Amino acid sequence: MKEQEKETIKIPAVALRGLTIFPDMMIHFDLSRKKSIMAVEQAMMGDQRLFLITQKDPNQVDPNMDGVFRVGTIVLIKQVSKLPNNIVRVLVDGICRASLLEFLENAEYLEAYIEEIPVETMESDTTETQAMLRHIQELVEQYCRYYPKIEKTMAIHLKEVTSLERMVNQTILNMPLHYTKKQIILEALELKNQYEILADILFNEIEIAKIRTELTDKLKGRVEKNQKEYLLREQLHYIRQELGEEDAFSDADQFEKELIKIKASKEVKERIKKEITRFRSISGSSAESAVARGYIETLLELPWDKVSKDNMDMNQVEELLNQDHYGLDQVKERILEFLAVRSLTNHGESPILCLVGPPGTGKTSIAKSVATALNKKYVRICLGGVRDEAEIRGHRKTYVGAMSGRIATGLKQAGVRNPLVLLDEIDKVGSDQRGDTSSALLEVLDSEQNSKFRDHYVEIPLDLSEVLFIATANSVSKIPRPLFDRMEIIEVSSYTANEKFHIAKKHLIGKQLKKNGLHENQLTMSDASIKKIIQCYTRESGVRETERKIGQACRKVAREILQSGKISVKINSNNLNKYLGKEKYLLDKANTVDEIGIVRGLAWTSVGGDTLQVEVNMMPGKGDIELTGQLGDVMKESALTGISYIRSISKDYSIPIDSFKENDFHIHIPEGAVPKDGPSAGITMATALLSAITGRKVKAEIAMTGEITLRGRVLPIGGLKEKILAAKTAGIKTVLVPEANKKDIDEIPKEITTGIEIIYVETMNEVVKHAFVKEEEKTSDN
Ligand code: ADP
Repeated sequence: MKEQEKETIKIPAVALRGLTIFPDMMIHFDLSRKKSIMAVEQAMMGDQRLFLITQKDPNQVDPNMDGVFRVGTIVLIKQVSKLPNNIVRVLVDGICRASLLEFLENAEYLEAYIEEIPVETMESDTTETQAMLRHIQELVEQYCRYYPKIEKTMAIHLKEVTSLERMVNQTILNMPLHYTKKQIILEALELKNQYEILADILFNEIEIAKIRTELTDKLKGRVEKNQKEYLLREQLHYIRQELGEEDAFSDADQFEKELIKIKASKEVKERIKKEITRFRSISGSSAESAVARGYIETLLELPWDKVSKDNMDMNQVEELLNQDHYGLDQVKERILEFLAVRSLTNHGESPILCLVGPPGTGKTSIAKSVATALNKKYVRICLGGVRDEAEIRGHRKTYVGAMSGRIATGLKQAGVRNPLVLLDEIDKVGSDQRGDTSSALLEVLDSEQNSKFRDHYVEIPLDLSEVLFIATANSVSKIPRPLFDRMEIIEVSSYTANEKFHIAKKHLIGKQLKKNGLHENQLTMSDASIKKIIQCYTRESGVRETERKIGQACRKVAREILQSGKISVKINSNNLNKYLGKEKYLLDKANTVDEIGIVRGLAWTSVGGDTLQVEVNMMPGKGDIELTGQLGDVMKESALTGISYIRSISKDYSIPIDSFKENDFHIHIPEGAVPKDGPSAGITMATALLSAITGRKVKAEIAMTGEITLRGRVLPIGGLKEKILAAKTAGIKTVLVPEANKKDIDEIPKEITTGIEIIYVETMNEVVKHAFVKEEEKTSDN
């Protein structure tokens, strides 16, 4: 392009709105603005050439230089026709592009100084132009595939075009492009640039068209599918009606009816309503429908806002509790306190009570009595062996066969939201890879969280804040710590023989008579026979076995009455054998002979107290120590402490220093049914060891309990009541108890301690003094 070829022209101009004209374009448009019409007239008077330039903002009425683009087109006016309403239609033929230099200050019409942009001639048959030409052609063809209407005029038209410039101009003429895009092409100085921009635009338009078609197809598909489903469902409905199988529909109607009846908040009802609507829309035989049905049924069965009215008459409750159970004063007291607080405040936070004690001591049955006395619904949830978190919290609905957890199921069973829920054996919950059961339980028991307990299956939060939870456990140490913190522990201890006797006489016999269809006057049991059952036929902390034995006697009597025609039977201690067989336990089981290296200890286990016999053997060897029997880690440590202590005092007992080097020691604790562990066998083991080493005998009728320190001090222990009771049952006469436990003895019923001499000890020296058989006695023995 040479500079001198450029020449400035003065020419009438028209500002166009929303239209861009290209050279090589024959087009007509209408003018209505006076200034524009004047410009056309002016051109007609001259050489009929007119400059057309596009407005940036189509709404501007009288644009100045800034209101229009910089590049426009010089056209030749071919025809002017006047239309009604002062509209002039002009037919023009584009000649060439020109850049606008300036508008003249002329009020009547627009006049502009412009500079022609010379036509760039490109060799039309170079490979490059051919490539560009064909590319545009291809793009246009693709584009037309999406717009079949344009195809007719455009594609055929463009097939014959051989010049790239014409190709660009014609494409733009025929394509429904926005004028601003056309303007960009018009302003591109070189033809190559114009090609690039156009190709870009075309490519973009094709992509948009493609996506649009896909979307339309999808939408169409969906509409068709919906329509088809609707039709099929209607047909199915009709067929069902004909066959009289209108299950799904009548079920949904039934659900709706029940929904009206239930007591629940608006949100809950709306949620259930939604589920019912969904249920209606799925076909009756599909698996999904079965899931939806089960879910709705569960939701409808849950109590939501339904409550039962509690018995608030404290005197009556107390009376009822006393009627059903002997003793258990602490539990009864706590329940009454709870009731009192609640009736005073009108809304008491439900405490979580945990009854801890050996089996058969009435934990479960008192909980049930509490429910009856308070007129509460009673639900028992057994937690023994529950390892899967989902058992507490439910499975998510997406699982096949999903169910609500035990808590939600319990509420469903109760049918009210304020039942008494017994969490039985809370110390037996476990955790494994299927989740943490205790953390799920924590949510149940935590009063901060349990008003919005989430069951995975139910999904809607459940309010457990009004539930009265009572848990039971055998041992405090096995209750997961966080759960333990949330509960109020009430210890239920083993029964004494006397307590057992009263329980049997007042409750168990009556219960078993009824169970076995006997009338009160058909069987009488003498007090002596009851005591004999307790002492010679059972050995337990609770009364379960006693109850079983009484039951056994009742069955035998029932048969006897029917077969022999007797009116009534009396059982006494003499004829008890006839009904229960030979005695199982003899009263005395204490050692009868004083022995070396054998000492009786006392232990506390989760099923009550027990005695344990520690045996020590010393034999020639090289100083090894062996521990066998069911020893826990704590017991092993106690044994080692004992040995260290004895070595440190070996001089006092004239034990030769080589004794420990030249002998092996074997400590054995014969295993019982329940494993024992704890430090309270410390002094027992130390005494047994010392006896074995010194060769001095230990008194047979003595038992001991106490922890030992390295320096031979005796430390206090727990579970004293259980231990003394076990000692008594075993027929032991003397018990050595740590001095520090003196205060606990006062709390033990006299009935247990009478007949047993309790000696308080502070050091191992004292233990030895009381336990060993006196030297002179030893000699007289031999
Ligand atoms: P736990 O739950 O502590 O293992 P249970 O509640 O099952 O024990 O009690 C076993 C049986 O003993 C039940 O029939 C119960 O009624 C009876 N029982 C236990 N303690 C008493 C008591 N203090 N008074 C009356 N019956 C009792």
